[in-house]
Amino acid sequence: MIRPFHRRAHRSPFPFYAVLAVLLVTLALAVSWTRLDTPPPEPPMLPAVYAVGGRVDTLFLGGYTRGSFAEAVRVLDSDLSESERGMIGRHLDKMFAPVLKEKGLVDTGRLRLAYERTQRPDGTTRAIRVLAAETAVAGSMHTAFFYEQDKRPGYFDGLGRSLTPQGLARPLDRAWISSPFNTQRVHPILRRIMPHNGVDYAATAGTPVRATADGSVSWAQPRGGYGNLVEIQHPSGYSTRYAHLSGFASRVRPGAAVQQGEVVGFVGSTGLSTGPHLHYEVRRQGQPVNPEVVALDAGPAADVGYTPGWRTERQRLARLLARAPTMLSTRGRAAMADR
Ligand SMILES: [Zn+2]
Repeated sequence: MIRPFHRRAHRSPFPFYAVLAVLLVTLALAVSWTRLDTPPPEPPMLPAVYAVGGRVDTLFLGGYTRGSFAEAVRVLDSDLSESERGMIGRHLDKMFAPVLKEKGLVDTGRLRLAYERTQRPDGTTRAIRVLAAETAVAGSMHTAFFYEQDKRPGYFDGLGRSLTPQGLARPLDRAWISSPFNTQRVHPILRRIMPHNGVDYAATAGTPVRATADGSVSWAQPRGGYGNLVEIQHPSGYSTRYAHLSGFASRVRPGAAVQQGEVVGFVGSTGLSTGPHLHYEVRRQGQPVNPEVVALDAGPAADVGYTPGWRTERQRLARLLARAPTMLSTRGRAAMADR
């Protein structure tokens, strides 16, 4: 339909405000798009920080190499001191131990890493911490990121699965072993040979009992001779049992997540017990193992895949790792300030 010309030419303040509004909206959109499009700023290249007792910088290594991790690092940068290469090698051995069959790169493979170095005033290396590393061995690629969760440092793969054994803490703050793990023990009440599948700690009734590793509660009620029992399932097929308890911590119910060090119950003498003590068991794939022996290398820390801070930190470390050389066998020259 054709409108008469004079109607369109009719003057009113409307077109002016309409044009102004369109301009403002366009401007606002342009600004917000610019913000979205702008990549996160690269960490600034700052001079190294001189911390108390030493200088801290970040270094990047990468390239094709082979041998143990310490040797592989020497191939990438022969200028590094032997002690520094040894430190890096030991770090990488630990980080990749859960995913590699053998230590280091048996055949030629790819290795990249970003690490933080603390130097003494005389220029020698006091300590290093690998922040992120990536290695391609036998056709598969493994990445490890340093991440601190609840002040507990550890290494995690790209999906946030723990690569660092958490180790088992002690279930009681202060206690002495009144009866060790023993597969041939004569039971003090039943008077026959019965394996003692755990360790007994003497402690006064009511002493708080703590979870020895992160996990989830699978049992929190009486169970036969155990009396009041708490059982916790941990990552990688470990479980722990805390028996003869006088009572349970209020949060502790089947399905509840518990953290290492959290109080799960209190020392008592329920079940088959001659007096107040804690009977503590560690099981691997359901089989009892000696808690005194497995104490340090058992129980990997919980995964961090759903932890809010994890994704941001992983992205930051991935960008850092991307600065490590890929093809060249030379060390990155960049030195960055400590975080
Ligand atoms: Zn016992």
